[in-house]
Amino acid sequence: MKEITKNILAKEYNIEDIIIDYVNEKEKLIVNKFKEIDEIKEYNQYKVIKAMQDNRLSSTDFYWTTGYGYGDIGREKVESIYASVFNAEDALVRPTIASGTHAITLTLSGILRPGDELIAISGAPYDTLQKVIGVKGNSPGTLVEFGVVYKEIPLIDNRIDLETVRKTISSQTRMVMIQRSTGYSDRRALTIEEIEEAIKSIKEYNNEVIIMVDNCYGEFIENMEPTDVGADIIAGSLIKNPGGGLALSGGYVVGKEELVERVANRLTAPGLGKDCGLTFGTSRTTMQGLFLAPHIVSEALKGALLVAKTYKDLGFKVVPDIDDKRSDIIQGVELLLPERVSEFCKAIQAASAVDSYVIPEAWDMPGYEDKVIMAAGGFIEGSSIELSADGPMRDPYYAYYQGGLTYEHCKLGVLISLNNLYKKSLISL
Ligand SMILES: *Cc1c(COP(=O)(O)O)cnc(C)c1O
Repeated sequence: MKEITKNILAKEYNIEDIIIDYVNEKEKLIVNKFKEIDEIKEYNQYKVIKAMQDNRLSSTDFYWTTGYGYGDIGREKVESIYASVFNAEDALVRPTIASGTHAITLTLSGILRPGDELIAISGAPYDTLQKVIGVKGNSPGTLVEFGVVYKEIPLIDNRIDLETVRKTISSQTRMVMIQRSTGYSDRRALTIEEIEEAIKSIKEYNNEVIIMVDNCYGEFIENMEPTDVGADIIAGSLIKNPGGGLALSGGYVVGKEELVERVANRLTAPGLGKDCGLTFGTSRTTMQGLFLAPHIVSEALKGALLVAKTYKDLGFKVVPDIDDKRSDIIQGVELLLPERVSEFCKAIQAASAVDSYVIPEAWDMPGYEDKVIMAAGGFIEGSSIELSADGPMRDPYYAYYQGGLTYEHCKLGVLISLNNLYKKSLISL
């Protein structure tokens, strides 16, 4: 690192020399891994551009209409481009899908009917989805309230327990749900290869079961997506990976045409489906974000590796581990003390370009059972493809780090977090 760069960190950000040297030294040990990340980025960039060209994305697609949004050409283009990128028959991509939870909820409730059985085969789903299904909390309108039967099969040693899955599937089973990303757990993400193996095994046994994948945080981490390996329908958030930091809001659902139609009918109304719904002029940023997404995801992944390396070498357990194959952008660090989680998140907030002066505190976030502390100083509110960190306040006190639109921003987050923990004697070098 050049003296001028070191100086701005030391003088303007008050980072101790010992921390700067430590992080630079660890960075040197992981740059070889950056090459693998760049290789995947390059492929995914070509894939996205080809989808835009094949669908004849045009400058006039960025105009928008009003009212019902009939003939919103941009919306239709966005959806066909998503379908191409994900190698699926159809897609629903809307700024009015409020979040990833909403996209997944639409998928589940659009497809499942009373008496149908849903089996989650990657253990307990993401916190908010447990409330959607109706196994936690008591919000009205859950799937269980609608008469959906829910079963859950835990992972064994972080692997899908295919034997139990096959034994559990019955004629009642309409859908099997797989969560690719770690969520708030201490497991690593499931790789595309593992997802493929599970899908093959299930389909071999029962070809009627619909395989749904919660793809949040997984987009563009690998060369393939779950729909490339047989998933019938997948869903995710536009303010995570595929929005590339630019999408203002939204969610996507891609998969089999007949299933996407059901989901669209839940979003709008039976008979209306995908044919209406205003985009409010968001098509351009949605597309530019998708164009940037492979690059942005690679920057975030490099940042996650730096977090893993710097904290692991201080003695903390990190998930995924340095050499694990990654399938999401999340980096978990087992910090063991609530004060460390809190300082870590405060540091990430302090490293933000937006709202850097705000001090995050643990609070009862809607949809979550434990208090959660969140650091999110994004250009887009709550956007976790931007530099962010969070941690539910529960044992063993994991901090989950994710995002960063540029690697340098990620590095600044790492530097400030280590510096603050060091100054408060919560770590020693
Ligand atoms: C983020 C996330 C969700 C929910 O997305 P929100 O946009 O936060 O509602 C669901 N599942 C997983 C695995 C996630 O990471």
